[in-house]
Amino acid sequence: PLPGSKSGLGGSERTYVMVKPDGLQQGLVGEIISMFEHKGFVLKGLKLLQTPEELAQNHYFELKEKPFYPKLVKYIISGPVVCMAWQGPGVVASARKLIGVTNPLQPEPGTICGDFGTEVGRNVVHRSDSPENGEREIALWFKDSELVEWEQCITPWLWSWQ
Ligand code: UDP
Repeated sequence: PLPGSKSGLGGSERTYVMVKPDGLQQGLVGEIISMFEHKGFVLKGLKLLQTPEELAQNHYFELKEKPFYPKLVKYIISGPVVCMAWQGPGVVASARKLIGVTNPLQPEPGTICGDFGTEVGRNVVHRSDSPENGEREIALWFKDSELVEWEQCITPWLWSWQ
């Protein structure tokens, strides 16, 4: 580590990011991983998964009364997803900005949803909306043994926290 800097990534904030089935079909997995790597966030969990229906229902439990809920669950289990846990200072808000608004019909250019999503029901990637939900979703999608504690040696060059 640089002199005076702590080792390890300061800020334990984590977010859950998931490439949805349309994102895999479009071949966007690498691009999405690169975006977070380039921003200096640290990957703590990663897997490819054919989602069990019950897990998709648990993930979206808050939306179960919505009219689009059955189609949403069907969409999430329609093909494999890529699950990721990312860590770093402000990672929840950064992920929301990098990925963009939920509805690709109101696109924010330069974001994943804005550039590659088509409609609200095909919006390529999920990101947590708060640090609390980040932790809830990481615990839902990953076993403890699938989350890896490690330090990236470039971290002290990318972040100035002491
Ligand atoms: N969704 C949908 N139709 C709607 C609103 C949402 O199919 O009218 C889907 C969309 O895939 C979205 C997910 O439901 O990503 C969760 O909705 P939420 O409003 O929580 O948006 P988020 O911030 O999770 O993208």
